[in-house]
Amino acid sequence: MKDIQNLFGSCVFNDTVMQTRLPKDTYRALKKTMSQGTHLEVDVANVVANAMKDWAVEKGATHFTHWFQPMTGITAEKHDSFISPKDNGKIIMEFSGKELVRGEPDASSFPSGGLRATFEARGYTVWDITSYAFIKDGTLYIPTAYCSYSGEALDKKTPLLRSMEALDKQAMRILKLFGNVTAKRVVATVGPEQEYFLVDKKVYLKRPDLIYTGRTLFGARPPKGQELEDHYFGSLESRVSVFMKELDEELWKLGIYSKTKHNEVAPAQHELAPVFSTANIATDHNQLTMELMQSIANRHGMACLLHEKPFAGVNGSGKHNNWSISTDTGVNLLEPGETPYENAQFLLFLVAVIKAVDEYQDLLRLSAASAGNDHRLGANEAPPAIISMFLGNELTEILEALETDTKYRNRERHSMEIGVSVLPHFPKDTTDRNRTSPFAFTGNKFEFRMLGSAFSIAGPNIVLNTVVAEVLRQFADTLEKSENFKTDLALLVKNTFHEHKRIVFNGNNYGEEWVTEAQRRGLLNLKTTPDALPAFIQPKSVDVFTRHHVFTEPELHSRYEILMEGYCKTIHIEALTMIDIVKKEIFSASMDYQNELATLLQRKQSCGEYDTLPEASLLEQISKLSTCLWKKRIALESAILDSGEKRTILAQANFYRDRVFTAMSELRLVVDELETLVAKKHWPLPGYAELLYSISQGDIP
Ligand code: ADP
Ligand code: MG
Repeated sequence: MKDIQNLFGSCVFNDTVMQTRLPKDTYRALKKTMSQGTHLEVDVANVVANAMKDWAVEKGATHFTHWFQPMTGITAEKHDSFISPKDNGKIIMEFSGKELVRGEPDASSFPSGGLRATFEARGYTVWDITSYAFIKDGTLYIPTAYCSYSGEALDKKTPLLRSMEALDKQAMRILKLFGNVTAKRVVATVGPEQEYFLVDKKVYLKRPDLIYTGRTLFGARPPKGQELEDHYFGSLESRVSVFMKELDEELWKLGIYSKTKHNEVAPAQHELAPVFSTANIATDHNQLTMELMQSIANRHGMACLLHEKPFAGVNGSGKHNNWSISTDTGVNLLEPGETPYENAQFLLFLVAVIKAVDEYQDLLRLSAASAGNDHRLGANEAPPAIISMFLGNELTEILEALETDTKYRNRERHSMEIGVSVLPHFPKDTTDRNRTSPFAFTGNKFEFRMLGSAFSIAGPNIVLNTVVAEVLRQFADTLEKSENFKTDLALLVKNTFHEHKRIVFNGNNYGEEWVTEAQRRGLLNLKTTPDALPAFIQPKSVDVFTRHHVFTEPELHSRYEILMEGYCKTIHIEALTMIDIVKKEIFSASMDYQNELATLLQRKQSCGEYDTLPEASLLEQISKLSTCLWKKRIALESAILDSGEKRTILAQANFYRDRVFTAMSELRLVVDELETLVAKKHWPLPGYAELLYSISQGDIP
């Protein structure tokens, strides 16, 4: 039995390690910088760096790296060793404060969306003191933010930290109004639930589409998919269980609170959820979780698929972003509370989120947009592309009662006047479950369920923090001027709910009726990534992001370009992969089989009067489909040829969606039909059944 308590965080330069390893005054100076964002003096940095190095070397590390999160959505690292030459031909292990605090990776090849011309390729990494350094594979990892020479953010961490600051500032203004004198900071807290698939490595390696694009571009439906729902919460296969155990231990060593693991709805699909932490740390930890899932799966002869839709016709993978706001004293501001005082404050934060989600539907929607996620949203397995909020009946009734000045009729019939009578305490478990809502209140937090499984959670949390900060700013502006706080507060809650209640929907989000109803309510329905992304650079978005110093206008434009380009490139690569597989493998398979059938037919006919119905009709069917395949392949090739430079990146993305993607779908239909007809021994790709049951059934011959 391993000693999990000692294992946990054993590879992290955390508070305990700092306390034992740093001189008292250095520790205090560092803590001050961490909690108050004050400047870190060089001599302090030097002492910290040296202590970090000693600790890391004792644990077998030889290198350090500035670990950062460029716009690729995955993390980047460049390793330097601690060695430093001495005169006598020997070396010493060294690590300076300067090296700890700032790095300069050659960064010309990361996407910058035009922010940084390659001739001035300087990019700087700057230590993020709020996220602990850790050791992985013999290297000391230092979490860093990444920016250009002129200070523009080139990564996902910088704007996330800025958005957390904005939220902190505005939420503190509100808390002061309620007379809170103990809280010094407000932080966004996040717990991301991560879904993924595991498939056998041997089967995986026979699918070039999975290797190059992360999803199957072809594949006929298997006889058994997820219809029986027998995988959900089912017992874990032994191989999966061993994998999960090792994953947990590796995560725990890195101080990641991996908590829950279970089988998901689709065959071969699983989920991991950690205990929540600050948005910043949760983001770092989720990136590490995804990386470790892939590398540990590999060690166990499996491939971990993080794509949003690896298999057509089978549920894809998402990520539920549980989000709340909390004080540094540990008070969750979205906890309904038990006293009128707490209730009123809770209701104010609640309507702030309602207003923010309603007013910035477009930003939330685009924060969950990607080519991969387009396959899921609105496909009856994930929320639709329409943003709405689930509050549950109880909370909705309370807000409605306030709105209409009527009495809230719960069992005890409390009268509803903020701050005077006792509001009912909302026991967590009575908030009914709704699995179809994109943005659901779940007792003391919101669960944003639109994210794709492969996402960095930075983007959606940047948006959430910023838009809520903006509404809190407006509230604080109003209430700070108020002469009668109680009355104005009640009015603000009431009016805000009245103006934004259209965003609240407690019903079935998967139903057709909701699409019509949402349209009637004037809610946005931005179906695809190219529909969603333009909102990023609209004046209203520029206004909110620049006002709170989360993005500058050039940063917004660069991100818009990068996201649009990412969409186009993804589809481009998928299309080329399809063409390649069709040309090199599918055609030859169908030719081989036709040859076999034709030979048999000929032989039978030459031997006498045999019935040739099966081989003749099969040959005819496959022959026809082959012609069709030929034409659809040419159509896709010509769509790609036409996809070159368009006037705008939006026009280009629309072209990829309307022409290239459509041509891909048509080509796929033909291939999938062929798969059901061509003899298995000729078919070059392992089918869906083999992929989906590759772990549970052992090797399928
Ligand atoms: P549910 O059953 O509603 O999904 P869980 O308790 O299983 O809720 O939590 C799901 C995720 O939400 C976990 O990652 C958990 O840590 C996270 N979570 C719980 N409370 C908060 C909070 N205050 N802020 C952010 N995330 C939270
Ligand atoms: Mg959940």
